[in-house]
Amino acid sequence: EAKRLRQAVTVYNPGAEAARTLHLSLLSDLHTAIQQDQLRQFLQPKRCLKTGRIVGAEALVRWQHPQRGWLPPADFIPFAERSGRIRQITDWMLNRAVHTLADREAAGLAPIYIAVNISTLDIQDQTLPARLAAMLAEYRVDPGQLQLEVTETGLMSSGTDPIAVLHALKAWGVRLAIDDFGTGQSSLAYLQHLPVDELKIDRSFIQDVHTDPRREALLRSIVGVGQGLGLTVTAEGVENEAELAVVQGCSCDQLQGYLLAKPMDLTAFEGWLASAG
Ligand code: C2E
Ligand code: CA
Ligand code: CA
Ligand code: CA
Repeated sequence: EAKRLRQAVTVYNPGAEAARTLHLSLLSDLHTAIQQDQLRQFLQPKRCLKTGRIVGAEALVRWQHPQRGWLPPADFIPFAERSGRIRQITDWMLNRAVHTLADREAAGLAPIYIAVNISTLDIQDQTLPARLAAMLAEYRVDPGQLQLEVTETGLMSSGTDPIAVLHALKAWGVRLAIDDFGTGQSSLAYLQHLPVDELKIDRSFIQDVHTDPRREALLRSIVGVGQGLGLTVTAEGVENEAELAVVQGCSCDQLQGYLLAKPMDLTAFEGWLASAG
């Protein structure tokens, strides 16, 4: 009797039940989030360390949930991936980015490129290149102004041949970046087969780099490998002047991080850009 009671108690786990209910409601909410225009695209600028110019921006998704308030991507992207809704978010982000690029060109503003994060599942989807090409054609945007960021882990864990999809994307003229570089399991040899333009060094290599000579040595080697392969190397998550000094000392090409600016909505971004020059 006691055993059966224990089983009943383990089966009825109010914590798990609550989590399940939360997930189910988020799932149906996510369904309406796009239709009801609750997603927001924030932009975080990237500076070229050689010229000092702002050359691009990374697009980062936010969800302005009517009950839960602002949700960061970590709260819903993994979930959207598991439930198969990530494609809708990706398409929405790509569409916003292309729209912004078209508007900027029409307004006669200096060209920048916008980078959109692409999930592992997107890279397995053979229809992505065609969807992207259709968007670029509709808004008449130069494909070279759009970049896709793919994580190293995403490429390694992908079932289908991700390199074929990357080549198809590259054939349309979009820029490609390897994101979070250094955190995955891929070998350096793998890098030479990828048709990418930019390598983004993960923040874990940048954080406190000025206090640890071994971390600096790693950073310097990664920059060397990237530049040796002809790639633009970007340091992400630079938060202070001390980190920046090492990043510059290692001759990184580009800077992104709170030191330069936090991600902002489009209006704030354009204002910031106008005053940053
Ligand atoms: P990520 O691609 O590595 O993006 C950089 C993250 O670091 C962003 O967090 C950004 O706000 C944050 N960050 C930038 N500079 C600094 C800094 O100086 N210090 C610190 N501590 N953090 C900094 P966010 O916006 O919360 O995004 C987290 C992750 O969610 C992203 O990591 C990316 O993997 C994913 N993500 C964001 N937007 C999208 C999207 O539209 N689609 C997909 N599939 N994933 C997205
Ligand atoms: Ca990214
Ligand atoms: Ca990143
Ligand atoms: Ca990162």
